[in-house]
Amino acid sequence: MIPFNDLRPQFQSLREEILAAVDAVIESQSFIQGSFVEKFSAAFLKLHGGTYGTGCSNGTSAITLALRALEIGNGDEVLVPNNTFIGTAEPVWEVGAKPILVDIEPENYGMDLRHLESLISSKTKAIIPVHLFGNPVDMAGILSLATKYDLKVIEDCAQAHLAAVNGTPVGTLGHAATFSFYPGKNLGAIGDAGFVMSESESVYQQMRLLIDHGRREKYLHDILGGNYRMDGIQAAVLSVKLNHLEAWTNSRIRIAKTYDKALQLLGFKTLRPIQNAKCVYHIYPVEVSNREDILAHFKKREIQTGIHYPIPLSCQPAFEFLGYKKGQFPISEKIASRMMSLPMYPELSENQVATVMQEFIEVAKP
Ligand SMILES: *Cc1c(COP(=O)(O)O)cnc(C)c1O
Repeated sequence: MIPFNDLRPQFQSLREEILAAVDAVIESQSFIQGSFVEKFSAAFLKLHGGTYGTGCSNGTSAITLALRALEIGNGDEVLVPNNTFIGTAEPVWEVGAKPILVDIEPENYGMDLRHLESLISSKTKAIIPVHLFGNPVDMAGILSLATKYDLKVIEDCAQAHLAAVNGTPVGTLGHAATFSFYPGKNLGAIGDAGFVMSESESVYQQMRLLIDHGRREKYLHDILGGNYRMDGIQAAVLSVKLNHLEAWTNSRIRIAKTYDKALQLLGFKTLRPIQNAKCVYHIYPVEVSNREDILAHFKKREIQTGIHYPIPLSCQPAFEFLGYKKGQFPISEKIASRMMSLPMYPELSENQVATVMQEFIEVAKP
């Protein structure tokens, strides 16, 4: 069996260190926020070239925190790509604003900037570009529209730890950035965890307050926030794993190159990162015209795959209230019907990659 993702090898290779880290948290009773979270936050920020940032409860709440700190709420509109995990868009609704979905462009799967600009209204307050699959979005175009229309930009980096353009890691270009450490992400905790980052000290301070009930002192609450705190155990485990993130990322890139070489020769459409971009392949998607056949064949051969994502946000029952119709987002709908994701995790062996390619090529059509 070739799994789509397997988290056990990472745990096994770091077992002693991880268990010792958990033990240290329990001994110190620093269960929530505190020294382990501070230590991890500083290290993650440094590796990512960010100026201000801190751990929080998960990648979805991180987006809520960024929206609230940027004062986006009732009556506002926020532009979100139509092909992303729903966690990008839910926080927009949660803070009382309305997600406005943007179709994507067929080559790089980033938001179509012409479509995006046509959707900007007097209510539009922010854009949430998503570095989907770990593939950096072309931020220059987004930032120039943001400047032109005075919009805030929140980078959703949930799938893009250590992704970069021209050597600059993602997450430092907008007004705020968010990360997820969901166990299956490129850097994964042993439960839920996330991160908020900003180059602005005031935005960061506001996110910090919101994370912990708006308090400056134990029982002095400046503003109404919530409980968006990170656990000490998650931070301690993430600190251990962070030391290996670069090596794991390089493995992902190496596996992707092997897939790329085989697939591009045969005319398959795979991720094509923008110039000078470092894509970190949280997911390795490929477009095919006979997905059902391949899925059936892979099932027989015990090769696990995924689809990211089978249903665009505009077609989700939960977003019916937005009033979108089928056919309104031709590119994202077409790509959702063609995309499939091949096994991808750092410990995938060369033999496994070769087997996946052999079985894929046997059945798949571009
Ligand atoms: C995983 C993910 C999120 C949500 O992160 P959680 O930690 O699971 O809440 C948001 N956006 C994208 C693009 C994601 O992949």
